[in-house]
Order: sequence, then C-alpha cells, then structure tokens
Amino acid sequence: MTTNQNASNASADTAAVIDGVALSAKLREDITRRTVALKARGVTPGLAVLLVGDNPASAVYVRNKVKACADSGLHSVLERYAADMTEAALLARIDALNKDPSIHGILVQMPVPAHIDANKVIEAIAPEKDVDGFHIASAGALMVGQPGFISCTPYGCMKMLESIGYDLRGKHAVVIGRSNIVGKPMAMLLLQKSATVTICHSATQDLKAMTLQADVIVAAVGKCNVLTADMVKPGAVVIDVGMNRNPQGKLCGDVDYEAVRQVAGFITPVPGGVGPMTITMLLVNTLESAERHL
Ligand code: NAP
Repeated sequence: MTTNQNASNASADTAAVIDGVALSAKLREDITRRTVALKARGVTPGLAVLLVGDNPASAVYVRNKVKACADSGLHSVLERYAADMTEAALLARIDALNKDPSIHGILVQMPVPAHIDANKVIEAIAPEKDVDGFHIASAGALMVGQPGFISCTPYGCMKMLESIGYDLRGKHAVVIGRSNIVGKPMAMLLLQKSATVTICHSATQDLKAMTLQADVIVAAVGKCNVLTADMVKPGAVVIDVGMNRNPQGKLCGDVDYEAVRQVAGFITPVPGGVGPMTITMLLVNTLESAERHL
C-alpha cells in the first residue's frame, strides 16, 4: 500500500484514510492562486446559486458553496426564492443569468419544488455555465470523451483516486448506484481511465458477488451500511459517496466504515471524505468556466 499526504494510516492493519478535507485544502490553494491570476487579467470568476423553497438541508448546502467561493476569492450570488415561485419565473431568471457576463457558473440547488420540472431547469442553464455538470450537453460530452463540465461529486472521487496515485487501468471498479449526477458519470470517468466497470443498482441480484470482485468500489446509494466488510476484497479502495442519517440521527455514509476499514486498503470517511471534494470541484468548474470565457 502506498500513502501520501492526503491518505493517512493509523495502523498497518487498517485501511489508509483518504482525507477529503486535507485534499480539498490543497486543491483550494491552487484555486485561490488561479483566481488571483484571473482577477489580474480583469475577470473575477462568478457563481450564481439559486435556491427555491426552504428545504433546510439545501439551505446548508448553498451556504457552504457560497462560503467556499468567498474563501477562495470567487464572486458569488445567492438568490433565495419562495417555494411557490413559478417554473416560468425561474426559467426567466436562469435566462437572465445566462446572459450576465459577470456570472460564469449557474447552479440551481436540487431538489426544486414538485411543481417545477427539474429537467427543464437543468436544460435551461447554458451548457457553458453548467458548472454542476448536469446538463444533457455535459453528460453527452462525458460520454463521448469531449471537454465539458464533469459532475462535481464523481469528479471529486476521481481526484481522490488520483491523490493516492491509483492506476485504474485494467482494474475492476464497481459503482453502486446509477443516478445521473453520481453513479453514471462516475462509471464513465472510471471507464475513461481504462478500468473495467460494473454498475450495480436496486435490481442487481447479488451485490456481494459483484463487490467481492472489485479493486475499487464507489458506493452512491443513500442507505447506511449497504456495503459491509464481508462484501469487500482485502486491499480494495472504497469510496463512500453516501450522506445519510442513521437511526440515531448521526451522519453516515453507505459504508459500514469501522468494519470495512479493517479489510480495505483505502477508504474515504463520512463526514470529511467526498463531501468537501464536491464543493471543491464546483469551484474548479466555475474557475474553468471563467478561464474559458477569457
Ligand atoms: P439516487 O438518485 O437516489 O440514486 C441511488 C441509487 O442507488 C439508485 O441508482 C438506486 O438504484 C441505487 N440503489 C438503491 N438501493 C440499492 C441497493 N439496495 N443496492 C444497490 N443499489 C441500490 O441518489 P444519488 O443522488 O446518486 O445519491 C446517492 C447518495 O450520495 C445519497 O446518500 C446522497 O445524499 C449522496 N450524495 C452525496 C454527495 C456528496 O457530496 N457527498 C453528492 C451527491 C449525492 P435504482 O436506480 O435501481 O433505483
């Protein structure tokens, strides 16, 4: 097992922990440097964050995103709208932001209220400002290997693998979950790096048989303890995307962390793993958008 400054290993018997906070801090130094360089050329990278309704979890997410922008010197605007905002009004606001030269990235926090069609909202964002990477043009670009914005969470997972110097070529990667924002783009990114990829989902018949073959497992399900120690090959890399609450109300991932770290070679914690990386990659995408604009 190799470790570097973003992976720490308390004991030789347990997995090295890939520290998303430490890796984010390192990447954000570079983001701040690039932002200063852009500002010197007269462009301040700008992100617009739109929140419709009063979902408390969404309110925390958008606050964290806006704070991360401020910490790295990016300009951001947070626009909060009442839950009864009409779909037409939201689409009109996105259209105005698409035309606003001070804004390089537009993010509408999901979920939107049920009367608004989330797909219409995503498709209304100009692809060149789609820093969440959810637009069909971004998904298509990823599929065919063209440049575009990569969905922030899978992008962050890839950076975590890169941080430990992991060579995916020829490795078997198992992705659990097939959502458009995590599972599917994750699988495409792993495939781009020449891993052999298996995508599992709720209809997969024998999940354990799949995960036991995996050199890399990415769990993106949304349920505590979907991945237990008996499902992991010794030495495997385990990336936990899940953000859940256990019955005691404590934040947990999809992985039975304490047990799995006795078996895995590398593991990401929750909290302090993929979560901070997602926000960091949002900053990276916004910065890249501003650089492309320039
Ligand atoms: P999602 O859209 O609900 O997708 C969940 C996926 O898990 C679906 O594809 C589903 O299969 C599959 N699944 C459900 N039960 C399963 C089971 N027992 N075995 C195998 N697969 C199963 O969720 P998401 O948006 O991808 O998010 C997944 C998790 O990641 C959530 O906890 C979310 O909060 C978290 N998340 C974290 C971050 C972060 O920054 N850390 C970012 C995004 C999401 P079907 O398709 O067959 O229904």
